[in-house]
Amino acid sequence: QEYLAAIAQDNAGLNAFVTLDKDRTIAEAKAADKLIQQCLATPLTGVPIAYKDIFCQQGWRSACCSKMLDNFIAPYTATVVQNLLDAGMVTLGRTNMDEFAMGSTTESSHYGITRNPWQHEHVPGGSSGGSAAVIAARLAPAALGSDTGGSIRQPASHCGITGLKPTYGVVSRFGMIAYASSFDQAGPMAQTAEDCALLLNSMAGFDENDSTSIERDKEDYTRDLNRPLQGLKVGLPREFFGEGLDTQVHASIDNVLELLKKQGAEIVDVTLPHTELSIPAYYVLASAEASTNLSRYDGVRYGHRATEFSNLDEMYSNSRAEGFGDEVKRRIMIGTYVLSHGYYDAYYLKAQKLRRMVANDFQTVLHQCDIILAPVAPTAAPALASHNNDPVQMYLSDIYTVSLNLAGLPGIAIPAGFTSSGLPVGVQLIGNYFAESRLLGVAHQIQ
Ligand code: GLN
Repeated sequence: QEYLAAIAQDNAGLNAFVTLDKDRTIAEAKAADKLIQQCLATPLTGVPIAYKDIFCQQGWRSACCSKMLDNFIAPYTATVVQNLLDAGMVTLGRTNMDEFAMGSTTESSHYGITRNPWQHEHVPGGSSGGSAAVIAARLAPAALGSDTGGSIRQPASHCGITGLKPTYGVVSRFGMIAYASSFDQAGPMAQTAEDCALLLNSMAGFDENDSTSIERDKEDYTRDLNRPLQGLKVGLPREFFGEGLDTQVHASIDNVLELLKKQGAEIVDVTLPHTELSIPAYYVLASAEASTNLSRYDGVRYGHRATEFSNLDEMYSNSRAEGFGDEVKRRIMIGTYVLSHGYYDAYYLKAQKLRRMVANDFQTVLHQCDIILAPVAPTAAPALASHNNDPVQMYLSDIYTVSLNLAGLPGIAIPAGFTSSGLPVGVQLIGNYFAESRLLGVAHQIQ
């Protein structure tokens, strides 16, 4: 009731939730009360949660914030959502995002922009901007996001909250609407690393419905929360601290560095030489995968269908022309181009090779240190509409987040301070495959 009241008061000004269903929320809360009475509660039972509009949830409109799916009521529930429902979590609603998760500002949503709760003239980041905003504005204590190239960590940083992108394959993608399947990974967003650890405990696990889900033993992601940092080797990749990094963001990272040192961590200089190439590699590969994933939206089985057409081909093209927004169309065109006969070798294949080189760089570095400390974004949250006429400028701002998606590694963004104008700044901790527990522990020690 308390969260519903806060939503009723503040959501209109932020536009962070795009779908709410109060009756259903209350019904789920009552079911959670029963679990508690029957002593069947988990640590998450009765705790409200918000889901990014990318996760299918039976009976809820799951539109990925696209006109294309505006009429789509999911007939089934994503595994990760089901896992949290089984733990007794209560659905508050569905949050705003860039259309099909393509973007870094939440401005390409079919349902309008979301405002940054700290300063309404700034974006919350993206694409999981709605999920980050509801936590920052205290409209939800927990949320899910998805991270293909930074979409959990970057909005978490811009809204002053905590967000974890797990190792690729740790969390099932079944029922999460696909953008770039070899990158997409769901993750928890909350106030603290401790909350994220509790969420991941219920989210993670093998799922036979996702062919890239990893079969491994269940872990307790809270196990390292109180582990001391004495002797921890923290790598600082020199390519992440060069030109383009805002001085105030740099200063916040220096503060975190001091905290780590005070607790006995050792700092080592490392190099990730192919960092610059991660942006072109990511945008070629993610667009290629998007162009094939989005070919399913043809107006035949579900989604938007144009009303005016004279033959089947025209039905397809009119439905897609009307249903997709500009950024999505741009990605489909880039993706189709780089996969086309004659350009495949020059772009797609080259980008795959770069992907391997970026992943190899990380393996070299993660032999020299336990975790990597890095910025999340070059600046704090940009003002609304600042990237409107320059998509490439927006792509370049993903420089510190996309490389670990290319490698499939886990990363966490945690709050690190504020700029002089009062906008939050985050820092990023990156670890080796399956190092989530250690990342959460280090984050907890310095939060
Ligand atoms: N900004 C990146 C993109 O537009 C990342 C988005 C994401 O992680 N979903 O592709």
